[in-house]
Amino acid sequence: MNRRTLRSGEDFAAAGLGDAVTVDRVAERYAVAMTPLLADLVEREDPADPIARQFVPDLRELEISPAERADPIGDHAFSPVKGIVHRYPDRLLFTPLLHCPVYCRFCFRRERVGGAEKMLDDAEWSAALDYIRAHEEVWEVVITGGDPLMLPPARLRQMMAALDAIPHVQIVRLHSRIPVADPDRIDEETIAALSLERATLWLAVHCNHQRELSPPAIAALRALSRAGIPLLGQTVLLRGVNDKAETLEALFRAMVVNRIKPYYLHQLDFATGTEHFRVPVEEGQRLMRDLRGRVSGVCQPTYILDIPGGHGKVPIGPAYLQDGIVMDWQGDAHDYAPDLN
Ligand code: SF4
Repeated sequence: MNRRTLRSGEDFAAAGLGDAVTVDRVAERYAVAMTPLLADLVEREDPADPIARQFVPDLRELEISPAERADPIGDHAFSPVKGIVHRYPDRLLFTPLLHCPVYCRFCFRRERVGGAEKMLDDAEWSAALDYIRAHEEVWEVVITGGDPLMLPPARLRQMMAALDAIPHVQIVRLHSRIPVADPDRIDEETIAALSLERATLWLAVHCNHQRELSPPAIAALRALSRAGIPLLGQTVLLRGVNDKAETLEALFRAMVVNRIKPYYLHQLDFATGTEHFRVPVEEGQRLMRDLRGRVSGVCQPTYILDIPGGHGKVPIGPAYLQDGIVMDWQGDAHDYAPDLN
């Protein structure tokens, strides 16, 4: 069994995942990587396997539709210094590196991750932290990337300590694919590096299908929650991966069982070469309505859209109350407080 991360056409072909020519052609345009754990989870006899679909390059990625753009959520327009995106007054994004353990074929930052830009250098790192220190309105720092848990433990510890020392930063939220993609990295050293004395850490785990929650992933999640770190679930709605109510139900139930609160179900951003993953908003709203009757509130994420151009996130329904009529979970309409009309 291959224990190396798959990075080339030869690697993917040797693992029985796609053909070498396709992988290498796509890899000329976008970063490619799949960890051995995720490669092991693919059911080779299933041509529509939802794990393979997320990580095995596909020639359709080389087709760009008119709505797609290199910077779909407008990071660039809101970046005052390298490594910082400051869109809302009370929170900002800190991107200390642009490397990931895997490269998702639908990534919203696919034009930047895995390329020549790697980690912030020392001067950029200091400038980014100085920006956070200078902006006392910043209550929450969201560390994303790339995947911040790819930082060497010493650098991770240094980053957490620096943020912990900024009095107005109350919340540090770290977004990562590592717990499902490369859970062995969640070792004692990493968990120790994540500890904060004063501020509160939240960890958002990116997971799109129940099968990503493999036994090693579950062990890593347990270790994180035993360390007192609250976990959120972040899911992208993807054609052929999780575009069925029963698939989302299974995923969100599994998250909750593993102490992850489903947080966002993201409408796919207009990143280049991702059209084959796109589920229309109306279909996403139908799925959310279907989920309402299937699972309790603790299993319900917010269906969310990042407005193209950098205008922030908004929930996109479905709406249940309109013009005094409220719909129940079975789709039946009722007057809301008719005596008050
Ligand atoms: S882990 Fe996140 S940043 Fe990295 S490729 Fe996947 S979606 Fe993009």
